[in-house]
Amino acid sequence: MKYLNHITEAIGNTPLVKLNKVTEGIKATILAKVEYMNPGNSVKDRMAIKMIEDAEKAGILKPGGTIIEGTSGNTGMGLALAAVAKGYKCIFTLSDKQGQEKIDILKAMGADVIVCPTDVTPDDPQSYYSVAKRLNKEIPNSFYPNQYDNLSNTAAHYATTGPEIWDQSEGKITYFATGVGTGGTVSGISRYLKEQNPGLVTVGIDTYGSVFKKYKETGIFDEKEIYPYATEGIGEDILPKNVDFDLIDTFIKVADKDGAVMTRRLAREEGLFVGWSSGSAVHGALEYAREHLTENDTMVVLLPDHGTRYLAKIYNDNWMRSKGYID
Ligand code: PMP
Repeated sequence: MKYLNHITEAIGNTPLVKLNKVTEGIKATILAKVEYMNPGNSVKDRMAIKMIEDAEKAGILKPGGTIIEGTSGNTGMGLALAAVAKGYKCIFTLSDKQGQEKIDILKAMGADVIVCPTDVTPDDPQSYYSVAKRLNKEIPNSFYPNQYDNLSNTAAHYATTGPEIWDQSEGKITYFATGVGTGGTVSGISRYLKEQNPGLVTVGIDTYGSVFKKYKETGIFDEKEIYPYATEGIGEDILPKNVDFDLIDTFIKVADKDGAVMTRRLAREEGLFVGWSSGSAVHGALEYAREHLTENDTMVVLLPDHGTRYLAKIYNDNWMRSKGYID
């Protein structure tokens, strides 16, 4: 019989799919790595299981333990899946700008969820980083994976997503584009791909309101770059250890509206029912491709998660209108 012992064994080996319509006018081949095909519907399944397995190996996470993490939802889903498989409890802290669906999904997977304010600095005791850290100190036998600085995050993509993209593109990939949040996705994949082809160019997709692009260009952590924005999952007000700036050749900032509009186009024109940061990644990637790529190039752009988590926002016409994103 052909079966898996647990749904977590279905993580990875996601399809690479050509974009046909939104790429109009671009001669290069643009391929999308569709990460919502993972069982938790996002790219984060890959690093979640790796962080847990590495912690088990290191003796940091013991049977009956509690996993505590600050997560925008997708990492929580990945951790919750692995926790169900392995018998751990989960507590997640997230910021109040996240969609209600993300909160309900985590609860459905048996996790406890604590909602924290967005408009506070990371070191404020109310921030979702601080609350996760405090609970980790207070709760015995708890493990705080810390997806921002835990290098198992990057290692997961170096071990799986990078080789998959190289094999699926038969080594023809010349450009790689992906959103940057914790940085695990971009750093792990870029390191693997650049080892195979040192000439490969990696484009990091950033948001307005985030520090990455300015830091790459000037080496300055400029607090003036930090202000609230709506796109979920990419951009940061900190420099996570998983962002390896040497592996990212250039950053493109994508506005909330441009990302949102492209997300809807991906559903309607390509049949890809994806989340907001996927639209941002494609918008930024195509902007770069229009200027720099030729018909000999192949660009892979990674689409991190599924559209269900954004039904009340991107896929709701009234919400889109209220934001001024559509007429
Ligand atoms: N998009 C979404 C929807 C995400 O949840 C994340 C994770 N924060 C990312 C993009 C960015 O991935 P990474 O953290 O690996 O940089």
